[in-house]
Amino acid sequence: MLEMNQSILEVKGVGEKVAEQLASMNIYQTNDILEYFPYRYDIYEEKPLQELIHDEKVTIKGKVIYDPSLHFFGKQKSRLNFTVEVEGVAVKAIMFNRAFAKKQIHQGQDITLTGKWDAHRLQITVSKYKLGETEEDNSITPIYSLKGEMTSYKFQKLLKQVLESHEDDIKEFLPVSYLESYKLPTRKEAIKTMHFPKNRVALKHARRRFIYEEFLLFQLKMQLLRKIHRESTKGNAQAYRKEEVHRFIASLPFTLTDAQQKTLNEILKDMKSAYRMNRLLQGDVGSGKTAVAAICLYAAVTANKQGALMVPTEILAEQHYQSFQSMLEGRANIALLTGSVKGKKRKELTNRIENQEIDIVIGTHALIQEDVLFKDLGLAIVDEQHRFGVAQRRTLRDKGLDPDVLFMTATPIPRTLAITTFGDMDVSVIDQLPSGRKTIETLWVKENMFERILDFIHERVKQGEQAYIISPLIEESDKLDIQNAVDLHHQLLTYYDNQIEVGLMHGRLSAAEKDEVMRDFADNKVKILVSTTVVEVGVNVPNATVMVIYDAERFGLSQLHQLRGRVGRGEKQSYCILIAEPKGEVGKERMRIMAETNDGFELSEQDLQLRGPGDFFGRKQSGMPEFKVADMVHDYRALETARQDAQKIVENNLLQTEGYKHLKEMLSEEGALLEKLD
Ligand code: ADP
Ligand code: MG
Repeated sequence: MLEMNQSILEVKGVGEKVAEQLASMNIYQTNDILEYFPYRYDIYEEKPLQELIHDEKVTIKGKVIYDPSLHFFGKQKSRLNFTVEVEGVAVKAIMFNRAFAKKQIHQGQDITLTGKWDAHRLQITVSKYKLGETEEDNSITPIYSLKGEMTSYKFQKLLKQVLESHEDDIKEFLPVSYLESYKLPTRKEAIKTMHFPKNRVALKHARRRFIYEEFLLFQLKMQLLRKIHRESTKGNAQAYRKEEVHRFIASLPFTLTDAQQKTLNEILKDMKSAYRMNRLLQGDVGSGKTAVAAICLYAAVTANKQGALMVPTEILAEQHYQSFQSMLEGRANIALLTGSVKGKKRKELTNRIENQEIDIVIGTHALIQEDVLFKDLGLAIVDEQHRFGVAQRRTLRDKGLDPDVLFMTATPIPRTLAITTFGDMDVSVIDQLPSGRKTIETLWVKENMFERILDFIHERVKQGEQAYIISPLIEESDKLDIQNAVDLHHQLLTYYDNQIEVGLMHGRLSAAEKDEVMRDFADNKVKILVSTTVVEVGVNVPNATVMVIYDAERFGLSQLHQLRGRVGRGEKQSYCILIAEPKGEVGKERMRIMAETNDGFELSEQDLQLRGPGDFFGRKQSGMPEFKVADMVHDYRALETARQDAQKIVENNLLQTEGYKHLKEMLSEEGALLEKLD
């Protein structure tokens, strides 16, 4: 065993009762207690007297001038008074209910005091003191999360004992070269420092060590899993015909952006290799993901394979079908398969798919019903992947003999989250928009501006343009939200005196009704669409130039960005108007950020900073790794470093080499991962 593994009961002074208390904190063995780190530290910096702030907690160092005098008052209460010289100034010290200290504190001693500062009286009410000139920094107090009757005094005493008797059992498992190049303390040093920090610098390095250690182990596990996964599934090497693919690209009405070209190369490389692709393609709204998808699907066709594109809604499926038809005319047989294709027609279509008379199928989840079988599915693409459940995604994948799979999303996932939650996927990013796009002008206004907004929309409609209005939200209530949308719809009809076509969209409409409303809007029959947030992701109505969002402060930045992405899709200048009256500073800051930046990735990073990783996907994400010391958001640089190191270790089989022996042992304690690799 690398780590000592002695029962906590073996430690002197630990009986059944203490062991029970420790067990409630999941501490059973000596290494458990050593790795039970403080969840935070109170740090008081020593400052010159001049800079101490009245009524704040401070730490000062001085010499005792007079022996303490002890006074009793009330029932068993006591006050100890003494004077300390600090920087040549006499400072009064008061300590309550610690009569015993009188015997310890004497004239002439050096002393460090922490407590509340009274600047007017030059007086400190001491909560903690330390005698003598010590190297240890008295001003850092570890704070543990303790349970039951366990006190921090008892806990630290125990820790000290365990450390004294077991510190030589704490073994290093990181290769020396890593400690050297990152200047990290050894495991033993770091554990000691976490509990008994000598000073801030040492503590910082100890924490750095554990952050790196946690990330490296985590990333190694991810990468090993990925490797096992890759080697155990035979993918299909798709021998696509390069010239034909190039000819198709040249036939497009635009040249690919560098970012599109780069991601395309990454995907094609995967398709050609025998590995089964499992890749996430991220790109902001309008960055040209669909074009990349079309090229890849066509590449599969030139390799005599079939392709599938699954999208979340019928209207999107239809839009994609039409644009694919016009792009790939004469090059591939394309079919549309949605819930509306029923009975005999459906049977006919599924037959043609099974015979490979159809090369590319575009559809909704109708695509993954049991009756849909492919002859030879080479590439499956899932658009707006977060809208589908994991099970649905897997079903599509299982339709082919290990087809390559590409997930696309326009919700930029911050890199830190991408490499943790999607750690077993490769990630490609289109981080550039086609040139010549007009930026959407974003304004943040208060609700009393609403009539002016309606007049502004009227002006746009007169110019032939269209608008969306996202209706107000009521917390936790779909029903009331719908009522709001209905009311707002009425209000608009009245305001415009029924002179403008206003559509209404909400979650209670049937799929067919929703499609009808969307179609009328897309065909410019409806000029203004009042909607709850159900307004379709990815819908493309280039003629819409105004997006008004009620209660904007209730949305995450990424979600607002998605909604904003419904406009700005054509030639004309577009506008996004946020109606919000946020209460707190954070809320105001978020509205400012929205108004100032159009970059989805920057917004998602900001969102992550402001809301934390748990909330990023709108609900608590299960399966998010938990770290003791590390923080994915705050320590993202270390995460990136650890990821690269893990990659290098796994790719070069370094775990089989001498220098990595202990690291390998450490990982094998975690499970049977490594056996599969040997
Ligand atoms: P996304 O799916 O990422 O939102 P699309 O692929 O739908 O983006 O592209 C948005 C619009 O930009 C489409 O009208 C498409 O034809 C166009 N487009 C795509 N790539 C380019 C490019 N490289 N240059 C100019 N226009 C492009
Ligand atoms: Mg798209």
